[in-house]
Amino acid sequence: MLSEPLPPLNPTALKQKTLLVHERLCVAYKCPIAYFHNLDPLSELISALLSHRTKNADSSRAFRELRSRFDDWAAVRDAPTAEVEAAIAACTWPEQKAPRLQQVLRLITEKCDGNLTLDFLDDLEVSEARAWLEELPGVGPKTSAAVLAFSSLRRPALPVDSHHHRVAARLGLIPAKLAVGPAHAVLEAQLPPDWDAQQVYDNHEVLMLHGQKVCFFHNPACSRCVVLDLCPFGQNRMRSAKTKKAHS
Ligand code: SF4
Repeated sequence: MLSEPLPPLNPTALKQKTLLVHERLCVAYKCPIAYFHNLDPLSELISALLSHRTKNADSSRAFRELRSRFDDWAAVRDAPTAEVEAAIAACTWPEQKAPRLQQVLRLITEKCDGNLTLDFLDDLEVSEARAWLEELPGVGPKTSAAVLAFSSLRRPALPVDSHHHRVAARLGLIPAKLAVGPAHAVLEAQLPPDWDAQQVYDNHEVLMLHGQKVCFFHNPACSRCVVLDLCPFGQNRMRSAKTKKAHS
């Protein structure tokens, strides 16, 4: 359905719109969405570091290889770097990721007085836990949120991947040119503060699924989109398609 051009929104109206989008997409994608991982937080961090700019199937293969070739994460930390690199050959840039992985494992061990674990993050506030993680090299807001949200910690932190980011920008939930990194804080601030981990996880998942199944990078399927009436990008697109048709 096409309506008049949508006006820019104030922060309260944006929060209401976020909720409406969430509710509609939750119906479409059948929330609650099942968690896909139940890794401890350190394993989740390693999985996330391997997954940077790598297809899921390839990073999963690299993760499985690491697990099968080494007894534990301490063995990965202390192994010759070439062995770690060989184990993660399935992912992109193994020659950069192997030394980075070992550096991160060494740093965690140092910061935790010899203990190689991230289980203690459960005792911190989400914001503190994210800040702690983001001091590690190569860890930004997406990875810190993923460690807290997707691991067995199940904390309410919102990761934003490229699909989620694209859908949010087209819907006008974030400025069109806001990069993925700073979009995390803006999108998280739009969620009700009392939402539990499952609700925050569902919000990420439904926006991501919508980007994968309807709001494609090229040629989004706006005509069958359940949030078309809330989407300035989609409305403009449909309007110009209609005008083009009228003039052809
Ligand atoms: S209306 Fe189109 S651009 Fe907007 S969210 Fe739906 S598919 Fe994406």
